[in-house]
Amino acid sequence: MDRTILHCDCNAFYASVECVLNPELKKVPMAVGGDEESRHGIILAKNELAKKYNIQTAETIWQAKKKCPDLVIVRPHHDLYYKYSKQVMDIYKRYTDYVESFGPDEAWLDVTGSKRLFGDGVKIANELRRIVREETGLTISVGVSFCKVFAKLGSDYKKPDATTVFSKSNWKQFIYPLSVRDLLFVGKKTGDELERLGVKTIGQLAKYDEHILVRHFGKAGNMLYRYANGLDSEPVKSIYEKEKVKSVGNSMTFRQDLVGEEDVRSGIYALSDSVAARLRRKNMKCTTVQILIKDPQFKSISRQKKLEKPTYVSRDIRNAAMELVKKSWNLKLPIRMMSVTGTNLVGENDVYEQMSLIEDNTENTKKVEQFEKTVDNLKNRFGNVVSLGGSIKKYEGSIRKRP
Ligand SMILES: [Mg+2]
Repeated sequence: MDRTILHCDCNAFYASVECVLNPELKKVPMAVGGDEESRHGIILAKNELAKKYNIQTAETIWQAKKKCPDLVIVRPHHDLYYKYSKQVMDIYKRYTDYVESFGPDEAWLDVTGSKRLFGDGVKIANELRRIVREETGLTISVGVSFCKVFAKLGSDYKKPDATTVFSKSNWKQFIYPLSVRDLLFVGKKTGDELERLGVKTIGQLAKYDEHILVRHFGKAGNMLYRYANGLDSEPVKSIYEKEKVKSVGNSMTFRQDLVGEEDVRSGIYALSDSVAARLRRKNMKCTTVQILIKDPQFKSISRQKKLEKPTYVSRDIRNAAMELVKKSWNLKLPIRMMSVTGTNLVGENDVYEQMSLIEDNTENTKKVEQFEKTVDNLKNRFGNVVSLGGSIKKYEGSIRKRP
């Protein structure tokens, strides 16, 4: 039997949350980004008006301001975004136990078994859009299809606040003309390589010789072929299938290469802050910080550093990551992509007992942690104080399987 899978995507998630909490922001071009210690910062999300100025996620604020000098920059409130994220995910769970999140603002739902109760995929999709809008003020776009990869293409196809169906009978007509770069997991490098092979559209990829793809891309070639032909049979994970999180990381591919200490610091801070916020939410601390840097030719370096003590404090992760970058990278060279990851995680409560035996400044550490957690809570309660939103890619080591 064919499956019915939805992919739901919150539109301009961070920026939309900020606009819900402070509706005045809807009236001006606005972007979420930046940080206190750098006048630069990175754009993480933008509202509809900012889109008209061609403001792009993952460009620096000074680049964005060149296009739109009046752009209002709001600082990111990661903990608020997680609160909204949870609220939206909880709505999805009313319709099925098969809800698999993909970053804070996206999820797949397998509603095959829910149709008798709630109606067909399109009906459920439209209902979800309405309920999410009514209960949270956010809009989502939904793709409905028979596999995860096509459902994801569907949520991208028309937005904001839209439902797109790719069925067994219509998908070729709509999906064949799309760029291969729209396909899940086709990044810049794979896209360029496919283009060199003369493959620009998903239709061309679907008809390409599978053996040649495997020769060029190894196992991924196989996957590309299957994705393009709608042969993806990866199940949507159940909410009861909890895998142990071993690391928490964020990566970002920048619109324009980052060059120089200030740019690089902006990127590192944006990534570190969201890693720290996610660790705090999970009540986990990391004992190692890892960075990955890629240059425009996709040459990459990866470095890690063991911390003196486990942490989920932004400042600690920022400092460790920045130190690694300074030690291992010539700051005059351009950076295309960067990631910051916290690994070797421990539960926050497993830490204090050991530490109080050996550490003299435990009190001080506790104060900073308490402060950051209090700020998280305040933001959750009075979220409309501040700003930011977008395409930081979130990943959790050893838990995300490819669809
Ligand atoms: Mg989104």
